[in-house]
Amino acid sequence: MENLNRENEKNTSEACSDDVILRVEHLKKYFPIEKNLLGATTLSLKAVDDISFSVKRGTTIGVVGESGCGKTTLGRTILKLYEPDGGKIFFEGQELTNLNKKQMRRFRTDIQLIFQDPYSSLPPRMTVGSIIAEPVYVHKIVPKAQVYDYVIDIMQKCGLRPQYFDRYPHEFSGGQRQRICIARALAVKPKLVICDEPVSALDVSIQAQIINLLKELQQTIGLTYVFISHDLSVVKYITEQILVMYLGNVMELGETDEIFDHPLHPYTKALFSAVPMPNPDVKMQRIILEGDIPSPANPPAGCKFHTRCSRCMNVCRFKAPEYIEAFPNHFVACHLYNKEVMENLAAYDAEYERLEAERLARLEEERLKKEHGRRKTGSADDAADGAAGGEEKKETEIR
Ligand code: SF4
Repeated sequence: MENLNRENEKNTSEACSDDVILRVEHLKKYFPIEKNLLGATTLSLKAVDDISFSVKRGTTIGVVGESGCGKTTLGRTILKLYEPDGGKIFFEGQELTNLNKKQMRRFRTDIQLIFQDPYSSLPPRMTVGSIIAEPVYVHKIVPKAQVYDYVIDIMQKCGLRPQYFDRYPHEFSGGQRQRICIARALAVKPKLVICDEPVSALDVSIQAQIINLLKELQQTIGLTYVFISHDLSVVKYITEQILVMYLGNVMELGETDEIFDHPLHPYTKALFSAVPMPNPDVKMQRIILEGDIPSPANPPAGCKFHTRCSRCMNVCRFKAPEYIEAFPNHFVACHLYNKEVMENLAAYDAEYERLEAERLARLEEERLKKEHGRRKTGSADDAADGAAGGEEKKETEIR
């Protein structure tokens, strides 16, 4: 708890620091999936649940995790394409959380999004030139007379030839289309770009070109990226920080080299064990995760990862781990690194046994209640059958 408070104090002071461009504090996004007759939500899917991190200007943070862990929802909530259900978002020290659509308009150019699929994210009836020029006109980035030259300049920076200006998206390959998407995002001079799996739909050779382009643009224009991906080799190459997500929660956060060299969380270790090693003499030791990812609508109690964790202890089954700073700037949510928990395992085992006994007693009580109800209905039915039989007998006798 003390660690958590220390983290919070650090967070607040960093939110005001010039160096930090984006600060997210305890961000939540829940999607309702069941409502009662009065319209109140009775069950929700916790896609993003209490996430905190910060990004320094001109750097890249990688957000990694399996499909369905909430990476994309996190990116869209930061952009306020989804309204957050809790927590705070700071951009350059200004809080965005409660701004309405009109107030958000002035930040729309500063924060841009590059989508995963370059095939469906471009309007097919517009030429490349008009796709890139449209936001430039709308946000009055340069005087009208200079728009053409400005667009050509952006196209060249993104590796697109000026003669492509009048062509349509269908005339291009996947890699070139993603360059068009990048050019469109850069046309409004953003400071922060959220890249949602920008290379996952592309061939490996094209992926390298796009990643190098993003890196080059970061060095020349000083962009900051939130890079969402499940490809850890790409993340290692482009990021300075990594945030590992599982079922809407942060499992681990730290500097890229530190996380690759010394992963702490069992989930991170399993994920990183799948990264291919470019050295044929090094034998890979894959950690295979058993079972499927649980439903985010009904996550397991305690540590959300406990159903798949090889290090699972009794305490993990009922107590959610605290998010602590295990090493300087290296945060993890796992009981294995919590001194208080590890020193009191016997007490937690006893607590788990007590809770289990209570749960089993509750189940038995419910079973007995159901059986009693069934017996009652059965005897009522027998009585009704008996009465019906009597009536039938009387009728026969009368006849
Ligand atoms: S808290 Fe327990 S179940 Fe969760 S990752 Fe750590 S050891 Fe595994």
